[in-house]
Amino acid sequence: MNLTVTDGSPLSSPFSNPQLLPLRSIADITAEPILVIAPHPDDETLGCGGAIALLKQRGYAVNILVMSDGTQSHPNSQKYPASALKDLRESETRCAMKILGVEPTHITFLALPDGAVPEFGAADFKTTVNQCCRYLTDVNPNVIFAPCRADPHPDHRAAYQIFQAALAQTRWCPRVIEYPIWDWDLKQRQPYMQSWQQVWRLDTSKVVALKQQAIVAYRSQTTDLIDDDPTGFRLTPQMLSNFAHPWEIYLEENH
Ligand SMILES: [Zn+2]
Repeated sequence: MNLTVTDGSPLSSPFSNPQLLPLRSIADITAEPILVIAPHPDDETLGCGGAIALLKQRGYAVNILVMSDGTQSHPNSQKYPASALKDLRESETRCAMKILGVEPTHITFLALPDGAVPEFGAADFKTTVNQCCRYLTDVNPNVIFAPCRADPHPDHRAAYQIFQAALAQTRWCPRVIEYPIWDWDLKQRQPYMQSWQQVWRLDTSKVVALKQQAIVAYRSQTTDLIDDDPTGFRLTPQMLSNFAHPWEIYLEENH
């Protein structure tokens, strides 16, 4: 399915009528090890929690790389200054991954500054790409779940760019599957100017409850756990409802 969109209308997004997208089984993913790249601690669960659980149930090796430290979610909290918030968010990731079946030894935190993951052209882009090259060489993933290149959040786009650059440098050619997060937010949704050969849904109906448990593990993002920062971030019920379906949406080029 080619979804090149040229009229610039957000209504043209593949997310407008997701039930029309083809539904595939986890058996569509036949290679391992798997790598899931999360720009922030929680993106891996929101975007790919169902896939992670299903892949672990099949006995696949799944590695999680969390790019940023997540400390900008509550920048003014006295109870949770940056170092405490970083620790909290890392512990939430470990907890969520335990629920989905991922061992702590398969989780890596790069701890890049939240809100400043270097985009192409930024001063520290190259250093970060080199760091990710070393990680790729260690993990040798044959399938990568990456944030969508067109996600409205700059950290998500930057994470995609870093990994594309690292893959070019290492000449490693895994299957790359992109997942959307902030495209779900109608206020932020970007027009779809890119084209993917495939946009599809993964059937996650067997692990919906498990994924919801893992999302709940992110208490700092879903509850009033941190209640002393009026500017603090919280995932809205509406946003969370986008990740409660018995399927997940993925986009990719032909492989
Ligand atoms: Zn994010």
